[in-house]
Amino acid sequence: MTEHRNTTEQQPDTTGLRQSLDEVDSGIVRLIAQRSGLIADIARVKETGTSAIQDADRERHVLDGVEAVATELGVSANLVRRIFRELISDSVAQQARHLNGDQGGRVRVAFQGAAHAYSDSAAQKYLAGRGLDGELTGYRTFREAAAALLAGDADLAVLPIENTTAGSINEVYALLREHELYIVGEETWKVDHCLAAAADVPLSALRRILSHPQGLEQCAQFLQTLPNAVPATYFDTAGAMRAVAAAGDPSLGAIGSAEAAAAHGLVILRHSIADSADNFTRFVVLSPAAATVDVRIPCKTSLILVTRHEEGALLRCLEVLSGSGHSMTKLESRPRPGRPWEYLFFLDFEGNAAGPRTAAALDELRSAALYIKVLGSYPAKALRHRPRPGDLPGPQGSQAPADTLEAVAAAQAPAARKSRQYRLVDRAARQADTVVRVGDLLVGGDGFAVMAGPCSVESSEQINATARFVRDHGAHVLRGGVFKPRTSPYAFQGLGWDGLDLLVTAGRETGLPVVTEVMAVDQVQRMAKAADILQVGARNMQNFDLLRELGKVDRPVLLKRGLSSTIEEWLAAAEYIVAQGNQQVILCERGIRTFESATRNTLDLSAVVVVRERSHLPVIVDPSHGTGLRQYVAPMAWAARAVGAHGLLIEVHPAPEKALSDADQSLSFDEFESMMRGLAAVPGPRRS
Ligand code: PEP
Ligand code: MN
Repeated sequence: MTEHRNTTEQQPDTTGLRQSLDEVDSGIVRLIAQRSGLIADIARVKETGTSAIQDADRERHVLDGVEAVATELGVSANLVRRIFRELISDSVAQQARHLNGDQGGRVRVAFQGAAHAYSDSAAQKYLAGRGLDGELTGYRTFREAAAALLAGDADLAVLPIENTTAGSINEVYALLREHELYIVGEETWKVDHCLAAAADVPLSALRRILSHPQGLEQCAQFLQTLPNAVPATYFDTAGAMRAVAAAGDPSLGAIGSAEAAAAHGLVILRHSIADSADNFTRFVVLSPAAATVDVRIPCKTSLILVTRHEEGALLRCLEVLSGSGHSMTKLESRPRPGRPWEYLFFLDFEGNAAGPRTAAALDELRSAALYIKVLGSYPAKALRHRPRPGDLPGPQGSQAPADTLEAVAAAQAPAARKSRQYRLVDRAARQADTVVRVGDLLVGGDGFAVMAGPCSVESSEQINATARFVRDHGAHVLRGGVFKPRTSPYAFQGLGWDGLDLLVTAGRETGLPVVTEVMAVDQVQRMAKAADILQVGARNMQNFDLLRELGKVDRPVLLKRGLSSTIEEWLAAAEYIVAQGNQQVILCERGIRTFESATRNTLDLSAVVVVRERSHLPVIVDPSHGTGLRQYVAPMAWAARAVGAHGLLIEVHPAPEKALSDADQSLSFDEFESMMRGLAAVPGPRRS
């Protein structure tokens, strides 16, 4: 597409400047060599010591230091940080080589794909980092590459195991399970696709674009901008480049790496065309024998685990790891072959089996699990950079903190108090507040979420009018019961699934997410598809089957406190949900039974401060059920905000006196409006 510019015009002479630039560049390389010399000296000093070669504080110090210099000089701090991350990673590899006594040498490496495929580049990078020379051979499939290794035709195989866009590569997991193969290393590669063709043609001249299906998928948005081209799948990206070069047809394009394009003499028409800029693949380096790595080198250990056929078996295994201070970096479940509906897990964690702490944890894990295969301990490449306090987005920012079982297990926190009946929901397991995401609303942390609507959905007019009103007056979530837990079987029981449709429609039309009560195990899956938050009513707080079922769905759960439950029982009930893997639990204080009869229940606002101390889960307050009388609702709502609740659940009805349930405690529209006005005047609590 480049036009030939008129070169007869007077061009400024850049020769001198370019010469200066070349000098600066070779100066940079000389400085890198000087740095590398110093690293070698440090490695020799560390040889006799016991300290780890990777020191997170020191790394942070180095990065902060160079960033400060960059800022002072007006160059991009981000650029400098990226360059230094690579330099530091190289230094760590250099020291690791030294400690492990790696001599360098020549190895035969198998990979999948054609020459210049991403796997080829990753294998080269791995070898370079270890000072090894390689004889690399590409095989058609992953299985053929593994077979070459097992047959002794290769010393190592470098195979992709996961991609940050496309996820895990199941076939490689299957190979690890089926064969005596061990992981001795890992490598990461940033996948950066370009579009190349045989000639420098305008994009509109392209008719067909060849690539691996993943390459095409990862550039789908870009491909849509090409007016005349259709995608065509090819067995790998480098092969697609080769085919386009061989055809010499200028209407053909290929998507793959810039290296592959250059190797086949193609012209790059566009760089970095993937839809997501951060697209990384992690590769594992396989060998027929396990390797032992010096304990001072930061390692990861990978294993295959089959849990016992007992409730909470996986949780117990993970507790062995978190309890011994091991951060889990990956957990992948795969079907257990020949055993329908049974699973095995592939688990990665930071640790080295050669060290006593990890060795002891592996022993404990062996007795906790049904089967374990340690796939290897190997120098970690993809250690997670722990975020610095200033890097974390605010709780009301666009990103919630990680809210997964992994995050809890990985948290660097003191061990849970043994006397408690819960561990994962314990504040000791996670210092930071859990923030539960509901659409683009964040519940927990610094926010204050108001959930409002009728006790029961009664008709489309009733729910629509209420939805509009509460939305227009500051509510964030629409509530409405459709399955009602009524004391008398003769009382209104709710509209059931028809009511849910009405609620969901009202929510959609007003743009509000909806919360509704789920009463039975067999309602959970269906309700999880429609409602944004699943409420567990006070009467069901210890319906353990229901709680467990809710732990299996990927939906936030609002767990009300039982009528006569202690705070400890309530948190243990939350633990049931969380222990199944669903961390998205919002607690709701709704009043408890006491001797007092002036109110329907006694709203225990002290529970809010206790729960916030004992658990990281968000806690909201329901003053409607908590008092049972509408005149007390607003003052208790204001008080709830003042003591640090993360939100409110409020019953509102267009004509409270006619409500089919909980008429006495439902606010009229006017009362809701005045409650909300008063709320704005209550200063938000100071959050610790
Ligand atoms: C409700 O929210 O309508 C309800 C039935 O609440 P609880 O379970 O707290 O009584
Ligand atoms: Mn109610």
